[in-house]
Amino acid sequence: LAKDRGKNNYQYYNPKLNNYSTRRMKLEVELRKALNKDQLTIHYQPQVELSTKKIIAVEALLRWNSPKYGSVSPAEFIPIAEETGLIVPIGRWVLQKVSEQQKQWKKAGISSLRVAVNVSVRQMQENCFAQDVKQVIKEHDLNPVDLELEITESIMQNIENSTIVLNELKKLGVTLSIDDFGKGYSSLSYLRHLPIDTIKIDKSFVDDICDTSNNGSIAKAIIDMGHNLGFTIVAEGIEQEEQAEFLKGNSCEYGQGYFFSKPLPAEEVFLLLEKGLDR
Ligand code: C2E
Ligand code: MG
Ligand code: MG
Ligand code: MG
Repeated sequence: LAKDRGKNNYQYYNPKLNNYSTRRMKLEVELRKALNKDQLTIHYQPQVELSTKKIIAVEALLRWNSPKYGSVSPAEFIPIAEETGLIVPIGRWVLQKVSEQQKQWKKAGISSLRVAVNVSVRQMQENCFAQDVKQVIKEHDLNPVDLELEITESIMQNIENSTIVLNELKKLGVTLSIDDFGKGYSSLSYLRHLPIDTIKIDKSFVDDICDTSNNGSIAKAIIDMGHNLGFTIVAEGIEQEEQAEFLKGNSCEYGQGYFFSKPLPAEEVFLLLEKGLDR
């Protein structure tokens, strides 16, 4: 407690903390303008079938180019957007943009490409979330399974509301996945009670694979148990060929990571989709 620390609460004087909160506040001010000033863009990272290297989906990832601060990482601005509630209008914009993009790709001859969108718990708490998703699908004449919503294990914090919303979303026919699986504290057997299609294994367990002390035992366990419970498995953050090989050898069907491709602007992803990765 502050009172136990006495009057000279050192945190108050911590210059590092001060710099941090100053940057944070400045970023918040800038982020409020970013949406209307066209500073946000979306990059897309391919998700591949490990056995064929065929691109089966792309994940939409926000990029913010601030005139004041340059390119700011989502790891820094997404938490600010979440805490301030800005993630609600930003998330709605992402959904709209992604749907427009998907419609364009379809017109250009790319059929049935699934696009995954990251969704914050904060967005799911909005009463109209499922309605917004329904609307955007209808407006762009999308095939609902081609829209994938990635949520994190933090939905477990408010399991009642999450269950209701996830069921509403599943009724629309969209694909649902759990992002960064293993970072939180949820168990696969619990997730089985939710209408989840896919588990994305967190990058940290993919990094582990090349760590000789444990030989990817956690990744293996998630793949096996996930399959037994009927989930599709995607591994995140694959940077090396040996990781891709290990995962493929242990029955993981899909993967994503710099080894295959970094997140790219829509035009570049289009070229990859046409040309393929399995040259
Ligand atoms: P995420 O959803 O887990 O996305 C994967 C992150 O890992 C992305 O970081 C991606 O660029 C990065 N990545 C992919 N492959 C590799 C690899 O092989 N090595 C390494 N080191 N990194 C890899 P990014 O784009 O910086 O995004 C960070 C996080 O920000 C995302 O993690 C997601 O949670 C959040 N985010 C991004 N866009 C959105 C959005 O539109 N809405 C929401 N709510 N969150 C978003
Ligand atoms: Mg994601
Ligand atoms: Mg995420
Ligand atoms: Mg992830």
